[in-house]
Amino acid sequence: MAIVIAPAMTDRMKPMPPTDMLPTLSLSLSQYHFERLSDLPRHLPGLLDCPARELHHHLTGPTLLHLPGRRQPELFVSVLLHGNEDVGWVAVQQLLREALAHRQDRLPRALTVLIGNVQAARQGLRRLDGQPDHNRVWPGAVEYLGSPEQLLMAEVHRLQCERGLFAAIDLHNNTGLNPHYGIVCQNTPAHLHLARLFSRTVVLFRGLPGTQTAAFTPLCPAVAVECGKPGVAANEAEAARFLAAALHLSEFPDHGRQEGDLDLYHTLARVKVREEVRFDFAPPEGIQEDIAPLPPGCDLWLDARLDRLNFRELAAGRRFGRSRHPMPLRAEDEAGADITARCFQVREGELRLSRAAMPAMLTLDARVVRQDCLCYLMERLPMARGRNPAAARSTASESEPESEPASTQAC
Ligand SMILES: [Zn+2]
Repeated sequence: MAIVIAPAMTDRMKPMPPTDMLPTLSLSLSQYHFERLSDLPRHLPGLLDCPARELHHHLTGPTLLHLPGRRQPELFVSVLLHGNEDVGWVAVQQLLREALAHRQDRLPRALTVLIGNVQAARQGLRRLDGQPDHNRVWPGAVEYLGSPEQLLMAEVHRLQCERGLFAAIDLHNNTGLNPHYGIVCQNTPAHLHLARLFSRTVVLFRGLPGTQTAAFTPLCPAVAVECGKPGVAANEAEAARFLAAALHLSEFPDHGRQEGDLDLYHTLARVKVREEVRFDFAPPEGIQEDIAPLPPGCDLWLDARLDRLNFRELAAGRRFGRSRHPMPLRAEDEAGADITARCFQVREGELRLSRAAMPAMLTLDARVVRQDCLCYLMERLPMARGRNPAAARSTASESEPESEPASTQAC
C-alpha cells in the first residue's frame, strides 16, 4: 500500500526570517510507503523506466520512497540532488527492477530513497536559476537559511532520524577525467568501510556545510560517491553494484583497514585562478614549445591536457603551464588560509608545483574554472597496519584537516 503524505508544519519547520535569496517556490515533500516491492509499479506505473528528465510527469517535486527490507535500520540514499547528475536514479531503478524480476518483495535491508531536484532534472541542469544548490541546504548549512529547500531537507533529515539509519549515501556524477571515488567527512573504520564498497579511492574532506554527507556523518556512516560522467552505462552499473553491496551489509566492522586496502587522501588546497589573470588552455604542441610567446591578452597558458593528471600523484616541479604573471593562482586550505607559496611557484615563466601533490577535479572548462575552481590538491594519508586508521593521522603532515565534521547537529 502506498501512502502519500503532504508535509506538515513541525517545530523544525517554523517560518524563519526572510533572507535576500528566497525563490518563490512552494515545495512539498511527497512520501510513498510500500509494504511490498511489487506495490511500487502498481502505484507508480512507469516510474522504474522513467528517465530523470521525465520524472516531473510522475512526481511533483522532492519525493521519498520507503521500501521494505529484511533488516533494519534503513539505508538512506539520495539521488538527483543535482538535477543533471542522474547516475544515482538510474542505479536505483536498476536495483529495484532486478529485485522485482527475481520476485523479491523485500530488499536485503529497508531502503529510503530521496529523489531530489525533479524540476532541475527536467531541464538537465544542476539547479534552476533562483534555486539553492540542493546539496548545500541540509542541516549545518550556512546559506539559504529559511528557504523552502532548506526547510524541506531539514524535514527529510528529521524524518530519517526518526526512522533510524544504518548508513547514508549520496550519489553524484562529475565532469572531467576522474576515477570513481568516495568522499567521507570522518576517518573512522565504518565510514571508510562504506566508501571502500564503492572504490578503493577515498577522499577525506571535512565537508562543505549543508551537504547531505556532512549532515548525516555524526549519525551514521556516510559517503558521497562520485561516479564519473553521466550517461555512461558502466558508471551506472557500478553505482547499482555499490547500492546492492551496501544493502547486503549486515554490520560495519569496528577494526581498521590494512595498508594497501584503500587509497586515502585528504584535501590540501582548493586552487583558483586569480581574478585579474587572463588565462587560456594551450594546444599540446604550444605548451611544449618553450620559446613560443604566450598569445596576446593571455597571462597564463595552462596545459590543455591537465585533466589527465587527476588522481595522479605528481612530484614537486610538475609543470602546469606558462605564465607571465608572478603567481597566477591562489591556493587556499580548508580554513581559507592562503598557502599558494607552499603549492606553486613560477620560475622563468613556468608555473610548477612546488611540492608533491595529487590534483582532483582539474577541469578544462574555463567557465567552471572561473565560477568554481581550477582543481583541488590532495595528498595521501598513511594507513596504520591493523589499527584504527584515525590513529595514523597523528603521523601525517601538519596541514591535515580536523577529523571532526563541520556540522555536529544531532537528532
Ligand atoms: Zn553533484
